[in-house]
Amino acid sequence: MASTIIINPATGEKVAEYDRITKEVAKEKIARSRKTFDSWKKKTFEERSQLMRNLSNILEANKEEYAQLATREMGKTIGQSRKEIEKCAWVCRYYADNAKELLANETVKTEAAKSYVTFQPIGVILAVMPWNFPFYQVIRFAVPALMAGNTGVLKHASNVQGCAFALEDAFAKAGFPEGTFSNLNIDSKLVKDIIEDENIVAVTLTGSDPAGRSVASIAGQNLKKTVMELGGSDAYIVLDDVDLEEATDLATLGRLQNNGQTCIAAKRFVVLDAIYDEFLALFTKKMEAAKMGEPTDENTYYGPLARLDLRDQLHGQVLKTVAQGGRLVLGGQIPDGKGAYYPATILADLEPGMEGFDNELFGPVASVIRAKDDAHAIELANNSRFGLGSGVFTANKERGEKLALLLEAGSSFVNKLVVSDPRLPFGGVKNSGYGRELAAYGIREFVNTKTIWIE
Ligand code: NAP
Repeated sequence: MASTIIINPATGEKVAEYDRITKEVAKEKIARSRKTFDSWKKKTFEERSQLMRNLSNILEANKEEYAQLATREMGKTIGQSRKEIEKCAWVCRYYADNAKELLANETVKTEAAKSYVTFQPIGVILAVMPWNFPFYQVIRFAVPALMAGNTGVLKHASNVQGCAFALEDAFAKAGFPEGTFSNLNIDSKLVKDIIEDENIVAVTLTGSDPAGRSVASIAGQNLKKTVMELGGSDAYIVLDDVDLEEATDLATLGRLQNNGQTCIAAKRFVVLDAIYDEFLALFTKKMEAAKMGEPTDENTYYGPLARLDLRDQLHGQVLKTVAQGGRLVLGGQIPDGKGAYYPATILADLEPGMEGFDNELFGPVASVIRAKDDAHAIELANNSRFGLGSGVFTANKERGEKLALLLEAGSSFVNKLVVSDPRLPFGGVKNSGYGRELAAYGIREFVNTKTIWIE
């Protein structure tokens, strides 16, 4: 039987191996999930909330174990892994407290005696998830979906199967009936068969745009709804009135957190001409000073990439950008030794048509772009096939808000790095996907928005 081998990206050593399940076993798990849906959908919000609070407690009680697991499997620094688990626990509590209100009936005044909209669960949702936030991405899909009365099956990224099994186990320990949340350790080649399974009613995918295109087209053929959370090449505009110390601190954190592998990370820094050289010099100094190292070391600022092939792919994109005329200011060399390490890298003077401008660089590589003025900065920022998150750094909040409204993205933040927050909708436009997760908009993606009319 085929298996999933987990390699610690910091050491290159094998840390675990899990048997893949066959298509037949996966389909049995999905059938079980469909059976569970018939009773789960009838539970009250209070009953579901109680289990969600249990899950929150389990995540908190086992924080260290889960954090170590995430770090071992995908290389995130241990402090950031702990924060990820804390955030998961918060999401569970938030939807335990608020799902009922987010899904309350909405009365609409018509000539009927009574008319309203009600939100009913639809069935088993398939989630195809990435490795970069191995606990949070799953929780962000599963908690709202389950609170709405659906059940879920997970096809997680192969390199974080330990996290997938830990989550399945945590849901079971919290008291969720068998089949409410199940892990399918399958090869991604089987995703087509799973989408075609009659018991799957909808699909959500978080990952790269090629995976999104493939999954969305199969789901479309089968008339199954999808939500797509895809890649980004987020622009952060740095205006000429900023405090450069603060702006470069945020830029360094934004580009290096999660080892540079965050979908909403600041990737393209669009900097006004008046401060461009000064910004670049200070940013280079801070990126160079950030400590790359073993992710379990509390003093490490950023660790390795999640896999060797991803590191090599990123390096290829850096070389391509330089060959196209991009200026390599820092990094850009694969270090000797074990592990999937890649140093903090800065590519400057980038223009449309260069790899580092046009495509997502999923790692600790910053693209720096010169803009003449505010209007030019918006033009450059929006000159992208992606539109996930973006930001503006400025001392003038009104000027920042004006530009934030012009940015083509699902989220635009002023003077703060974009984050996903359970109280606010999250998603993208253009090739960054469609649909939303979180908040009322997200929890209502996988429901039957049903009209009731009483004459
Ligand atoms: P990925 O290669 O697209 O993989 C994501 C998931 O899709 C994995 O479970 C993978 O399984 C599966 N998969 C890949 N190709 C598939 C196919 N053709 N058919 C069905 N399933 C397929 O992405 P990744 O490298 O894990 O994650 C990085 C990408 O995700 C980046 O582009 C990042 O920006 C994006 N992302 C977006 C968000 C968001 O909220 N918008 C959040 C996080 C990450 P295997 O692992 O088995 O290949």
